[in-house]
Amino acid sequence: MKTYNQLIHEYKKIFYDKGLSPEVVKAFIYELCNEKNINLYMDMDKEVNEDIFIKFNEGIERLMNNEPMNYVLGYSYFYGYKMIVNKDVLIPRPETEELVGLILSQYDTYYKGQSADLCDVGTGSGAIGIALKKEEDNLNVYASDISKEALEVAKRNCINNECSITYLLGSMLDPYIENNIKVDILVSNPPYIKTTEDVDPSVYDFEPHVALFGGEDGLRFYREIFEKAPLILNDKAMMFFEMGYDQKERLSALAKSYFPMADVEVFKDINGKDRMLMISIR
Ligand code: GLN
Repeated sequence: MKTYNQLIHEYKKIFYDKGLSPEVVKAFIYELCNEKNINLYMDMDKEVNEDIFIKFNEGIERLMNNEPMNYVLGYSYFYGYKMIVNKDVLIPRPETEELVGLILSQYDTYYKGQSADLCDVGTGSGAIGIALKKEEDNLNVYASDISKEALEVAKRNCINNECSITYLLGSMLDPYIENNIKVDILVSNPPYIKTTEDVDPSVYDFEPHVALFGGEDGLRFYREIFEKAPLILNDKAMMFFEMGYDQKERLSALAKSYFPMADVEVFKDINGKDRMLMISIR
């Protein structure tokens, strides 16, 4: 059996020759070792554990096919919480962790110590709703998705993270309207990529399109939410959305047209890209 070092070197070269990022190889082995409580850096010159070797061989082909590593591993981390991911859900992005951070800081400003009802529309893996509830127990969290399969993943993630959330199946705000649910805070990372936009093959070929594409102008689901939001929002309310880096002007104008009395603000992500929209009605 080869050592970790040899295995990494061998496959790094293969990846390099195929024009793929060689760093993926070590990162993958590192994760597999972590699962078995093996410290890769201490054991570099030891023989590869047999179970790890089997998992490595199963996964490495998929990685060579450009499949995102989190799907191969079957999990991802979001705001420090482990989340199961599979082809039915988008892999949670670091930008979305920033959205959670923004919501938590705004909650501290406007609701500190008070309970508030919040909904996560299009929850996917459940990441946003779960992280918010784990970080702020005063929130009463609802989360919904149009995909039954995604909702199953979200429910599993909720249980695994010992969290408490009410899940609803349905398109955008419909399940809240049907169940007469009113909220103080609406959160959504809707599909916002333009149908015509070029998307990296590792995203396009593997991630669920229902979670990615937001119609010709990318704004279809914001429009849908803005239109029906008054039916589920309490008098004083806030809305938070993730958005595409090039949507600031169009999306702010759209928000202003639906909510002329509200404060509309766009925040940048850590890369300096316009990424989060906040609408506050008070
Ligand atoms: N940020 C994602 C991407 O670039 C898109 C997420 C979304 O449409 N909500 O792949």
